[in-house]
Amino acid sequence: SKTPPTCNRDVLQYTPLDEIPIGVKKLKDTFHKSQKTHSIQYRLNQLRNVYFKIKDNIDNITESLEKDFHRAPSETQNLEVVVGLNEIVHTMSSLHKWTKPEPVSGLPLALSTNPIYIERIPVGVVLIISPFNYPFLLSFSAIIGAIAAGNVVVFKPSELAPNFANLFSKLLQEALDDDIFYVIHGGVDETTKALEQKYDKIMYTGNNFVGTIIAKKAAETLTPVILELGGKSPAFVISDVKDKDIPTIARRIVWGRFVNAGQTCVAVDYVLVHDSIHDKLVAAIKKVIEEEFYPNLKDSSESYTHLIHDRAFDNLSTIIKTSKGKLITGGETNKSSRFISPTVIDNVDWNDSTMKQEIFGPILPILTYSNLQSALEDVISHHDTPLAQYIFTGGSANRHSNAQINSIVTAIRSGATMINDVILHVGLVNAPFGGIGSSGYGNYHGIYSFRAFSHERTTFEQKLWNDVALKARYPPYTEKKDKL
Ligand code: NAD
Repeated sequence: SKTPPTCNRDVLQYTPLDEIPIGVKKLKDTFHKSQKTHSIQYRLNQLRNVYFKIKDNIDNITESLEKDFHRAPSETQNLEVVVGLNEIVHTMSSLHKWTKPEPVSGLPLALSTNPIYIERIPVGVVLIISPFNYPFLLSFSAIIGAIAAGNVVVFKPSELAPNFANLFSKLLQEALDDDIFYVIHGGVDETTKALEQKYDKIMYTGNNFVGTIIAKKAAETLTPVILELGGKSPAFVISDVKDKDIPTIARRIVWGRFVNAGQTCVAVDYVLVHDSIHDKLVAAIKKVIEEEFYPNLKDSSESYTHLIHDRAFDNLSTIIKTSKGKLITGGETNKSSRFISPTVIDNVDWNDSTMKQEIFGPILPILTYSNLQSALEDVISHHDTPLAQYIFTGGSANRHSNAQINSIVTAIRSGATMINDVILHVGLVNAPFGGIGSSGYGNYHGIYSFRAFSHERTTFEQKLWNDVALKARYPPYTEKKDKL
């Protein structure tokens, strides 16, 4: 297996701090002086360049992430690049439609002949700060949305995936004009310097701790922020599940937890299973891991990703060691390659080490419940507003005809909900993706990315000759006028 580099600076050249204000200023000048990003055709040309550049470099992208954290090549291709390319094609083919002014409806009679419409104008200079875990898709989707909306973009990729950050930023720099796109490489110092500059919108994807730092800093200049954060996303397996469905449910849960070695913001963080299903589900999950997905798993396997850094490895190893639950499978670790095998821990309670915070690694705790209402109260009191919630049922998948689903989705406010599957909602090009409460605010993807980086400006065209119809507004105010 390939061991990731120990020092990111060996691979990635960090941006000198004094260059950052100059780089951002150059983009600002483009936006305000040349104004070229206002042209739809210009945006489309830039996006087309990006599309071909990425399409020609899929293998290089896959390889860079293999170097960074032994990322399974198939996960990079299918969960990141294919989804991202679909999105850019969709964006290019929809842009004329999205940018068309939208007439305002419901106008009062006196204004009914006026052209009144909503224009979506670029916000200006956008800063996009991205994480390491799906470093292609999470930044690509935001960047293309911002470019499509006519902005100039400052991009700060995660230094934790340095081979990828290097390659991807070079590809984008080759595809995009250098006066509309600027990359800042580095860690805390460079990001802090980046945040000292003024932007028109900031998008941050990552953990809640840094999200708070970003939002506070942005508040100093009243800069709007989109925060895409994490959380503990539960998977309910409710009492109406049939025996015949358990193998499929187990497969989906195992994939939803262990893909990307659990480093997925919308991963199944823990399972809440009804006690009548418990034994069969646990046996099925063990079987899927040991016999179907990862038989004789070694750290060199191309089907299993490793952890990003030693800190994550140590933290997850401690969670496993200190858990009071019953180890069902896994628990093997190799520090030198940052490998932790898919680990399932049963009989877990809310005070367990696995339930303190988002796991963000290959550990699946299983909790059992007998009363749905009290399980929901537990979820809400411990980990409110997750980024996703998953519900597996043997009955109807519709909340209006399945009372248990209705109770869950009413009680738990989540960024998204999937019934009988996991994670796939992230790949939908035209559905808003984002959190609620502690899992973040704002959303993006497809038209929602375009809107996230646009200002919706109401434009009202009035005729000077049309003063009669609206003259009641002028003083002196009289009873007669008030009755008009
Ligand atoms: P990360 O460590 O790669 O950090 C993200 C970015 O923050 C990087 O560019 C990094 O340089 C910057 N950063 C780090 N410390 C900083 C500081 N003190 N000040 C300013 N910037 C700083 O990623 P991560 O945080 O380890 O990502 C994992 C978390 O992100 C998980 O909680 C996960 O659930 C969440 N996440 C959410 C989404 C989503 O779409 N909602 C997607 C992916 C990950």
